[in-house]
Amino acid sequence: MPADDYYETNDQGHLTIGGVDALDLAREYGTPLVVYDVTQIRQQFRALQQAFTKQHIDYAISYASKAFATIAMYQVVNQEHGHIDVVSGGELFTALKAGFPSSKISFHGNNKTRAELLMAVQNHVGVIILDNFHEIKLLEEVLADTKSHIQVMLRITPGVTAHTHEYDQTGQEDSKFGFDVKSGQAEQAFLQVQASEQMTLIGLHAHIGSQILETTGFKLEVKKLMLLVREWAKKYDYQPQILNLGGGFGIRYTAQDQVLALGTFVEQIVTTLRQLAEEYQLKVPAVWVEPGRSIVGSAGYSLYTIGARKDVPGLMPYVAVDGGMGDNIRPALYQADYEALLARDPAAQPSETVHLAGRYCESGDLLIKKLPLPATKAGDVIAMLATGAYGYSMASNYNRVPRPAVVFAENGHAQEVVTRETNEDLVSHDRFYQE
Ligand SMILES: *Cc1c(COP(=O)(O)O)cnc(C)c1O
Repeated sequence: MPADDYYETNDQGHLTIGGVDALDLAREYGTPLVVYDVTQIRQQFRALQQAFTKQHIDYAISYASKAFATIAMYQVVNQEHGHIDVVSGGELFTALKAGFPSSKISFHGNNKTRAELLMAVQNHVGVIILDNFHEIKLLEEVLADTKSHIQVMLRITPGVTAHTHEYDQTGQEDSKFGFDVKSGQAEQAFLQVQASEQMTLIGLHAHIGSQILETTGFKLEVKKLMLLVREWAKKYDYQPQILNLGGGFGIRYTAQDQVLALGTFVEQIVTTLRQLAEEYQLKVPAVWVEPGRSIVGSAGYSLYTIGARKDVPGLMPYVAVDGGMGDNIRPALYQADYEALLARDPAAQPSETVHLAGRYCESGDLLIKKLPLPATKAGDVIAMLATGAYGYSMASNYNRVPRPAVVFAENGHAQEVVTRETNEDLVSHDRFYQE
């Protein structure tokens, strides 16, 4: 059961999200429903901004929009003066639709198509993060065809990977992303880009992992990148304006997760960077970070309605809800843990332990195993916490179930920002087969 400082209630004792009663949200918009507390999203941006400001360093916070990408979300990022990462023509299109300034867009991906690169160039995105030699060549062709110029960064695989509490430090990282340092690929890419008159190399990028709960991996990452900068400064008299250190800051899913404040990551990253810059006699570059999960994860809630229940003597009961892997695949995909509570009485003492089952035709579609719950009945609304990252953005139409609506709640007001899909939507791309 989540401690009561991780959720809010109203006078009736109901769960509230952004000051709105969760039961009213479920009634008004139906379930399954994805609800964001917009205030929490803004607070995450502001926590990072304050931490950087305190360090007196140039910075950018580039929201990794794959965590949750919709027009309304891009609007909020823009209101908070953030940048964004996009990884596809679709995300880029959505951001442009939202009126997001293209100069603050970074275009990522390990297999961008020529059409996507053309779209990025024609819309003047701020920076393309180059991932591989094929892409350098494609981009050169696109720039020549369009007589354009663009800013780029090189994605480096620094040989550091971090997962929650562990990190690996290897000379070579076995990853599908980026240019390897040890084999000389990074240097070769650097020389190719420097030789191009139509690309300006503004910085180096690396990303070491996700749901990271300590700072060691980031400090190692800074060190690896600064060693590379030192080498290129000596050899080529090049120093990047920007070090983009990627995302990965961890959030609290359950009581097991001991999270660090976002400001702690920033403080330790910048301190390490300054020390190394001084030691190596290099300029202190601007620091960019790319948080995804830590911006939207805790701000998101999934509301479900309980339906069937299966009790077998001697076994743990299954309580089934009206959503599951179609709107949140993380438990099925990588055994992700979550907490959930009864929306009408989140503080009620648990009286049993159940498996919270999804509605999809897969035995693995269990949203939460061994969930302590008070007595529940069909029709009760369950709220799963911290589902804001990689939930809706990974949603599918498996079993031809329409994807849920998304609501933004802030200061007691709720607004639907993505409508629920309909059955008509599901067949809208189908065509009859003419024999
Ligand atoms: C996924 C990704 C991020 C965001 O990671 P989070 O764990 O959601 O913060 C940032 N940068 C890159 C390059 C990514 O691939």
